[in-house]
Amino acid sequence: MTARIIDGKEVAAATLAKAADLVARCKAAGVEPGLAVVLVGDDPASHAYVRMKEQDCAAVGIRSVDFRPPATVEQAKLELLVRECNKDPEIHGILVQMPLPAPLDAEAVIACISPDKDADGFAPENLGRLVRGLPGPRACTPWGVMAMLDHYGIEISGKRAVVIGRSTIVGKPMALMLLERDATVTICHSRTPDLAAVCREADILVAAVGRPKMVTADFVKPGAVVIDVGINREGDGLVGDVDFDAVAPIASWITPVPGGVGPMTRAMLVHNTAVAAARVAGIE
Ligand code: NAD
Repeated sequence: MTARIIDGKEVAAATLAKAADLVARCKAAGVEPGLAVVLVGDDPASHAYVRMKEQDCAAVGIRSVDFRPPATVEQAKLELLVRECNKDPEIHGILVQMPLPAPLDAEAVIACISPDKDADGFAPENLGRLVRGLPGPRACTPWGVMAMLDHYGIEISGKRAVVIGRSTIVGKPMALMLLERDATVTICHSRTPDLAAVCREADILVAAVGRPKMVTADFVKPGAVVIDVGINREGDGLVGDVDFDAVAPIASWITPVPGGVGPMTRAMLVHNTAVAAARVAGIE
């Protein structure tokens, strides 16, 4: 078997097309969707990510409102900026690009974002909503993975899913989203003994670790769906957490890196912002 490719660019394009339609309906109802983009400091990778996110917003008609505080900004000032965005009726989503430079407290800043304008889906209330099965903005990366599985009609209900990684932005919400769709879910992490054996039980295996090519062929049951969230810089290029060449011949479906989960994370940020604006416009 050679795995079919889960094409993140294709699914992202479909997601952005739907968002563009929603944005047009918002504008027709008198609401111009706006995303506040808070980028602290000069980190080149963060600047590159933000540029791409703003391009995606522009492509669907969402206005970006830029805030560029210096790396030396005081915590209180940054939190005040976020609170002002909460109050601004022309802003429907707020993105605070992570990581924040030390010694800024990212958790405290995230806690200031109004849950209704939480474009990244990181706010504690929105994680709580996910746990309770309530609607609300969801963490973009795992929500994007769910959109990819659905786009290709990959069955989730009743399947064994294994998620490697337990971060608050990927691993934990990923596991909860799969559970919500009736998968039987195991979360693995750095202290999981015999990781490969646990992963071999998976019908759906999600790797969100940050270790290049850690998932080798012996982690994968023949016919499994393999989702590679990892983004690792190697030389000039990017590699995932999955050894693609070794795993693709065994899996039924696989995401490439680049061109897999990455474009979906950005698309879901746009989706969350469009939906937030649509709620204000009274059309969603
Ligand atoms: P993180 O560092 O917060 O979490 C990594 C997790 O991996 C931890 O829970 C840890 O327990 C686990 N882990 C570490 N070593 C392990 C090992 N040897 N065996 C098993 N588990 C181990 O990272 P994160 O923010 O969740 O991101 C994970 C990866 O996903 C990174 O490569 C990151 O760049 C990437 N990422 C990609 C996107 C995207 O859009 N594609 C978005 C977010 C994160």
